[in-house]
Amino acid sequence: MIKVKDLTRKYGDFVAVDNISFEVNEGEIVGFLGPNGAGKTTTLRVLTGFSPANSGNVEIAGYDIFENPIEVKKRIGYLPEFPPLYTDFSVKDYLSFVADIKGVESRKKKEYTEYAVEKCGLENVYKKTIMNLSKGYRQRVGIAQSLIHKPDILLLDEPTSGLDPIQIIEVRNLIKELRKEHTIMLSTHILPEVSATCSRVIIINNGKIIAKDTPENLSDKLTGAVMVKIKIANDIEKAKIAVSEMDVVKKIESNEDMLEVELKNKEDISKVIKNLVEAKADILSVVPSSASLEQVFHHLITREEIV
Ligand code: ATP
Repeated sequence: MIKVKDLTRKYGDFVAVDNISFEVNEGEIVGFLGPNGAGKTTTLRVLTGFSPANSGNVEIAGYDIFENPIEVKKRIGYLPEFPPLYTDFSVKDYLSFVADIKGVESRKKKEYTEYAVEKCGLENVYKKTIMNLSKGYRQRVGIAQSLIHKPDILLLDEPTSGLDPIQIIEVRNLIKELRKEHTIMLSTHILPEVSATCSRVIIINNGKIIAKDTPENLSDKLTGAVMVKIKIANDIEKAKIAVSEMDVVKKIESNEDMLEVELKNKEDISKVIKNLVEAKADILSVVPSSASLEQVFHHLITREEIV
């Protein structure tokens, strides 16, 4: 759906996006994660045809953005970081206006508007003036304008920025719901955002892509090992001895009723459980843990590349 190859965007001598390449497949929801100033908005603006590039190729739904910007714009819905809402319009009038400027055919306008209103849960505020809406509802209106022409792809720039915790959850649920019908790429500098909503993450820092993977794989790659916490109801020292001699175990520690085992591979968890059962340990719980996305992110932007 989205193919970016060797894309570079400079502002004067400053390289904001430095030779980046990535792909987003149909039906994916990909998080574009990076600290402030990393180059996320610049990249999204090139992808939407709002900004030129210095070099590289961008193909959206089979169309080259630089050769066929109109065809690309028909297939993309864009939520900018600061959505251009006309706050003295009602939601109804604003969406009608956006549908017109996006070229929605008049015979489809009603159906498409109903689609956007229903998806974004705007039924109760449809006739209200945008100025009088909460920030969360304004953001929903912003998302509704991005999908009113039923684009294949949604590009959302910091979709939950400035919202309160309840609004954040609501907008995240809305985005997950939209995934059924749209391929989505969202930018964020908030780590829990990608864990909560995205199937894949592309991490950008100083204009360069430093990682592309699922959130889970990134954690595993960083630790290079898997940690498992096993809660034991009876003799913890006996349980520890049963496991400590195993080849697959890199490290083991006991702490009150908890064994903390470091394994070489995730698949070895079952072997450890088997040994514990044979040693008559009463297992209360088994919880695998790996590095949090927060640790991965910090590690990546402060140290090495793991693409
Ligand atoms: P944020 O999360 O803060 O929005 P971002 O990852 O979206 O950051 P960009 O807005 O793409 O980052 O900016 C990347 C870099 O390019 C920053 O250093 C920014 O100051 C610079 N930049 C962005 N727009 C311009 C511009 N029009 N002229 C000059 N420099 C710019």
